[in-house]
This record gives sequence, C-alpha cells and structure tokens, in this order.
Amino acid sequence: MNFHVLTLFPDMIEAGLHTSVTGRALKNGYIHLSAVNIRDYSKDKHKHVDDYPYGGGAGMVMQPEPIYLAYEDVTQNMEKKPRVVYVTPQGSVFNQSMAEEFSKEEDLIFLCGHYEGVDERILEEIVTDYVSIGDYVLTGGELPAMVMVSRLVPGVLNNEESAEFESFHDNLLEHPQYTRPVEFRGRKVPDVLLSGHHGNIDKWRREQSLKRTLERRPDLIETAILSKEDEKYLKKLKKGLHESE
Ligand code: SAM
Repeated sequence: MNFHVLTLFPDMIEAGLHTSVTGRALKNGYIHLSAVNIRDYSKDKHKHVDDYPYGGGAGMVMQPEPIYLAYEDVTQNMEKKPRVVYVTPQGSVFNQSMAEEFSKEEDLIFLCGHYEGVDERILEEIVTDYVSIGDYVLTGGELPAMVMVSRLVPGVLNNEESAEFESFHDNLLEHPQYTRPVEFRGRKVPDVLLSGHHGNIDKWRREQSLKRTLERRPDLIETAILSKEDEKYLKKLKKGLHESE
C-alpha cells in the first residue's frame, strides 16, 4: 500500500511512522509512505497556507489552493482517482471494518487539517471519506492519520495468528492475558492456563472475552458474531448480573 499524507507537519508523520511495526513494514517495503508538506505548495511569498474565516470568528482556516496543488502532484501518475480521507472530528468514527475496507486500496491519501479546519471547497473537490478517531477535538490531523495508517499495515490488521484473537475480532474484546511469574503480589494466573488442555483454554478465553465485552462494551454484543454456545453463556452471565442487582 502507498500512503500519502498531506500535512503541515511531515516530520511528525515521518518520526511517528518510522518506528516499531510501521517502521519495519516501511523498511521491508510492505508499505510506502510519503509525508507531503502542504506548505511547499504555497505561492505566497511568506509560505502562508491559512487565512481568516469569511464571516468572522476565531482562528484561521487552511486555504484550498496549496492543498489542491499538493493533491495534484501526488496523484499525477495514478491510474485511478484514489480515496482521500479527511481526518476530522466530524467524520464517522474509525473502526476495524473501516480499516479492512481501506486496506484494499493501493493508494490512500490522508488530509490532515490544522487551525480551525480546512476551506470546505477543497473538501468537496477531493475528499471521498470523512473519518474521526473519536469524539474529541485535537489540534491537528497528524495523530489521527498515524493511528489509521498503523492499523492498515499488512500483518497488523490480518494474516497473523494474534489478530484472530485480538479485540474487535468477531466484534468482541480480547480475553485477559498473563505471562510469568505464575504468582504476582498474591495474584495467581488462572489454573486453566497452566493446564496445557487446549480445549479448556480456548473455552475459558472465549468466555472471558464474552464476559469482558458484556461488562465493558455491551454495545458491541449487539453486532458480535456469536455461536449457540456463546449465546448460552451470555444468557447465563446476564441472569447472574440481574440476580446480583
Ligand atoms: N473546527 C474544527 C471542528 O470543529 O470540526 C476542528 C478543527 S481541529 C482544531 C484541527 C484539525 O485536527 C481538523 O481539521 C482535523 O484534521 C484534526 N482533528 C481534530 N480532532 C480530530 C479527531 N477527533 N479525529 C480526526 N481528526 C481530528
């Protein structure tokens, strides 16, 4: 996949994504990244990229022209019009299925806003998707773009055994994890995990996953992929919850 991030802070994108798993994926050529500085496309002699909002109000707004020129430059050799994601608190909240859908693209452009946001006309002109990372407002789109890119790296999203059990697989949260020592400050690792009985371990993990999701994110249960066994277990859990109320 080729990621193109249009930003006023390319160094932040480069530094953030050239580490850990994304860093390795970049080094091994599984993904390509270009962090494009929108300011380089400003025709203003002081390289300004923002101006006052028409109609008044606080703050500055990013101008459409430099963004369009950066977009034109990035897309000039692409065979088809790519998906352009504007990261914005006004978008749909990013989730695993969105990540899976985006990961099918060969080229993906992220547009990072700053200041009060971006002139609406450039959004109408180039943007195909409006995506948020949550209901809060950050000062810029760089962290959201990094969050999304890091979820789209092959091997992070799928094709790995661990991803099969990770949170949000089947729309459930992951079961608790333990490592050595067997006892820590009086807290012991559950016996079943030390038993070596894989059938029992899988059952325990699935049940923990259901229990945790019911307790922490009951909204996910509605759309979770559940077996008959799961449903039976959930019924039992819910009954237990009611009885303890
Ligand atoms: N005035 C804008 C509004 O109310 O929608 C918010 C502007 S915010 C200060 C600056 C930029 O940060 C946005 O243009 C967007 O690119 C990015 N941003 C802020 N919060 C975000 C979030 N929760 N998800 C994705 N991007 C976000």
